[in-house]
Amino acid sequence: MCQAAPRENLVVKVREIEALRDIQVRILPTRVIEKTTLTKNVVRLRLKLPQAQRLQFLAGQYVEVLLAGGKRRAFSIASCPSLEDEIELHIRHVDGGGFTGYVFDELEERDILRFEGPLGNFFVRNDNTERPMIMMGGGTGFAPLKSMIENLLGQDDRREIHLYWGARTREELYLDDLASRWADKHRHIHYHRAISEPGSVSESDDFTGFVHEAVINDFPDLADFDVYMSGPPAMINTAKQAFTEHGVELQRMFYDSFEFGLDVPVRVLARPH
Ligand SMILES: Cc1cc2nc3c(=O)[nH]c(=O)nc-3n(C[C@H](O)[C@H](O)[C@H](O)COP(=O)(O)OP(=O)(O)OC[C@H]3O[C@@H](n4cnc5c(N)ncnc54)[C@H](O)[C@@H]3O)c2cc1C
Repeated sequence: MCQAAPRENLVVKVREIEALRDIQVRILPTRVIEKTTLTKNVVRLRLKLPQAQRLQFLAGQYVEVLLAGGKRRAFSIASCPSLEDEIELHIRHVDGGGFTGYVFDELEERDILRFEGPLGNFFVRNDNTERPMIMMGGGTGFAPLKSMIENLLGQDDRREIHLYWGARTREELYLDDLASRWADKHRHIHYHRAISEPGSVSESDDFTGFVHEAVINDFPDLADFDVYMSGPPAMINTAKQAFTEHGVELQRMFYDSFEFGLDVPVRVLARPH
């Protein structure tokens, strides 16, 4: 965090902390009740919470899976907070990745995983409910956006949503059907694909290129939008810069950058007391 030295007593109002005030961060054991391959390099895990325990979270937040030796690995919650007794994660296999390799090769249904959560301040802001939203995900960056969209639908929130999902190939858009169904059923949801690998088979209405380019191509002036984005750090960094140049105010841009796990315990997030 940037630091400043106050000259006199002051009150600091941080909207994120207000929204997170009632959210309790907990350590919970969970049982894997489903492990499904969604595409070649992504699995979905459904984790059952202990009986009579609820995880209260804001759609968009993540959990950290706790591993031996104090290691932690962050994964966004893909399910809606209204689903009370389980959570869903979308896990992409990382080449040479210790934990994701374990999930793909060894983890079985009925195994136990412990996590700490919910964490993070990536959630839909409700302070200006008229503004349309761009939701942009790269790969498994779709996971927190899925939770947000399901939650907004559950609350009958009709804000305009332009969902952009980017991947190298169309096959990697592992829940493409679900996103299409949202768009078919709800007039305020618009779904756009961006496929970056040249030559990979794509439908004529798919954008070819990076996902942030697809957004700018459709909306050269982004000043009226709230932007929510999640996925690889390279995508987030490029998009932040490009979107700023196209009119998005920094404080209307919200994101989770899927940085790699650090193997030292770091606590950099503002936590509610
Ligand atoms: C807030 C947050 C939310 C996240 N949500 C999700 C999610 O919903 N789904 C998801 O699939 N991932 C998500 N991630 C990324 C995920 O945490 C990492 O992919 C994971 O930590 C990799 O663990 P590992 O033990 O398999 O890899 P490690 O053993 O830690 O790393 C092995 C090697 O791969 C490199 N590496 C590690 N992670 C990545 C990566 N993501 N991309 C490229 N190279 C990598 C490392 O630098 C190292 O060289 C999220 C990250 C953050 C910070």
